[in-house]
This record gives sequence, C-alpha cells and structure tokens, in this order.
Amino acid sequence: MSNFRDSRFSNLKEYVPGEQPQDKSYIKLNTNESPYPPSKSVIDVLNREEAEKLRLYCDPDCNLLREKLAEIYGVGKENIFVSNGSDDILNFAFMLYGRQNGAAFPDITYGFYNVFCKLYGIDYSEIPLSHDFSINPEDYMANGKFNVIANPNAPTGMALSEEDIERIIASNPNNVVVIDEAYIDFGGKSCYKLINKYNNLIVCRTFSKSRSMAGARLGYCFACRDLIGDLELIKNSTNPYNVNRLTQAAGVAALNENEYYKANCKKIAETREFTVSELEKLGFTVLPSIANFVFAKHNSVGGQELYLKLKENGFLVRHFTNPRICEFNRITIGSKREMESLINQLKVIVGGKV
Ligand SMILES: *Cc1c(COP(=O)(O)O)cnc(C)c1O
Repeated sequence: MSNFRDSRFSNLKEYVPGEQPQDKSYIKLNTNESPYPPSKSVIDVLNREEAEKLRLYCDPDCNLLREKLAEIYGVGKENIFVSNGSDDILNFAFMLYGRQNGAAFPDITYGFYNVFCKLYGIDYSEIPLSHDFSINPEDYMANGKFNVIANPNAPTGMALSEEDIERIIASNPNNVVVIDEAYIDFGGKSCYKLINKYNNLIVCRTFSKSRSMAGARLGYCFACRDLIGDLELIKNSTNPYNVNRLTQAAGVAALNENEYYKANCKKIAETREFTVSELEKLGFTVLPSIANFVFAKHNSVGGQELYLKLKENGFLVRHFTNPRICEFNRITIGSKREMESLINQLKVIVGGKV
C-alpha cells in the first residue's frame, strides 16, 4: 500500500468475504447464496429495453421498489430505505450511530461489524456468546451502546425471541439498535413491526439470500421516518444513485413473484432439516439453525481438516480460524441433490470415525 494513505487507516484490516473461485466449479456451500435462480419475472425484465435505458441515471429514491416493499410488508414507504446490499446500510448505521457511545455485538457474529468499527474509530465490545453459542439478551439491555444483533445470528443460525429483542430495544432508548435480519426468511420471526413503537430501531434485510439476488446487490431496511432520514442523508452525501437501474428493475420484478421465493425458503428449510439429521448420524454436532446454513463440528475430524478435504473433493464450505469456532464449518443449504452428494462425500471423509 502507498504512503499517501491517511494514518487513520494504517491499521485497518479489511473484511474478507467467502471465496468466490472463478477457476474450477465447486458445489458452492460457502457464502449462503440460494441454490435456486431468480424468478422468471426477474429474468424477463433484464432485457434489451432495460439495457438500453442504462444511458440514463436511475431513480435515486427507488420509488417503485419502496412502494412495493411497503405494500408487501404493510408499512409506510417513508419507513423504508433501500441500498446497495445490506452491507451498505450497516456501513451507514455504524458511521451515523457508532462513535457517540461505542458499539456492542457478540464475539461470534457477522465479521463485518468489527471492520466498520475499525474504519470509523468506534470503541466496541465483543460480548461473548454463552457456552451453547446463544446470545444472552441481558448483556445488551440498558448497556448504553449502539447494539447490533444479527437475528438469526451468523454463523450459528440461532435466533433470539421477539420478546428478548423488544426488551433490548426498550431498555436502550438513547441509542439505536440494529437488528440484522439477513436470514429471517428461512424460519425466523421478524421484529420489523416494532418500528411503529420504537424510534431507535433499524431492521435490515437483503435480497442476497432468500431472494436469490446476491449478485444484484440489494438491501433494504425498516425504521421510523427520522432514522430513514439519517440514512438518506449519508447516502445522498456519498453516492445518491447507489442502487443501479437493473437492480431496481430486478427487485420490483422479484417482489411481484413473492410466492415463488416463499416456496423456495420453505424448501430450503426442509432440506436443512434433512441435512441436520444426516450430519448427526455421521457424528456431527449441529447448532439449532433457523437460517439457510448450519454450523457443524465433527466429533473426531477437525474443522480445518474437514474444510480442506471437502475442498479437494469439489465442495466449498466456510471455515473460520477464530479459536472458539475453528472446529466448526458453516455449510450453506443447497438443493436437496447437492446436500445428498455432500453427505455422501462426508461419509467417505469421516469414514468409520463416528
Ligand atoms: C450476507 C449478510 C449480510 C450482507 O448482505 P448483502 O445484502 O449481500 O450486503 C448482512 N448481514 C449478515 C448477517 C449476512 O450474513
């Protein structure tokens, strides 16, 4: 790196996303993408006519998309903000609300949160998950900080109840609480309706996982009008056209076929239950997930070894080196067929070592 860089960034460690290999084809179970394609309406809308409109700027307010989201979720259009992936929303939220009183989130969670803290010079506490990898809600109550909680959490897949989430929000009236619902559509109960009751809540979501659009980069969030105003201020002060024309069109088309995505989420939840029971038969311990991935460790084969052996054999899963979770691998739920071949491969790898 250069010597021109501002000294604020000298120790910045970037976020490292899961591998996206372009060389050979893997059964890709490492970044929680959907195994199913976008709906037909999405594919139809990305046509020549839409491509020709690329010479024009897109709608900076994403009106059609926000109207459609408002209709589906039964909230006001003014309570919705859309962005270039939910990472963008998280970025803006840390920028806006992190410095004042410092941030708090679990020690095991989405790896981007602490990167934002380092980027903005935010003091932060990484609160240890309990021994069973659950979040203890008391740790976040009235802690006077900007709390960010993925619900369900990643990479554990485990969720807090709506009551616990509400207790955290209600006990921190002077700080914003972000609930990151990237995986809520696979079986969790959303808390987004609480935005009508609390002015300190942002609930963020993404089209990347449950709506098969990771490559389009589309995120959205629900919040009271004032918080949405804050997010718009940052967006308009950095990149007002941050959701491109093709993505806006694809997003509206996807929402027009919402039932297709609901059916896919249901299939993925069923495949998850199948996968869990097969993994358990092979001697794995699997955390109770309600997301589109499971977090599993084998009783005798190490996490790193398993990751490498799977990779050699054409299966990509996600392994983390953090000592607390290095015996685990996070396995995205693919199609039933993909999971059957994963299980067959694991039978070879773990062999008699159940
Ligand atoms: C995938 C993920 C995101 C980011 O989603 P994008 O919309 O693709 O930026 C945010 N939070 C969590 C917990 C995620 O796993």
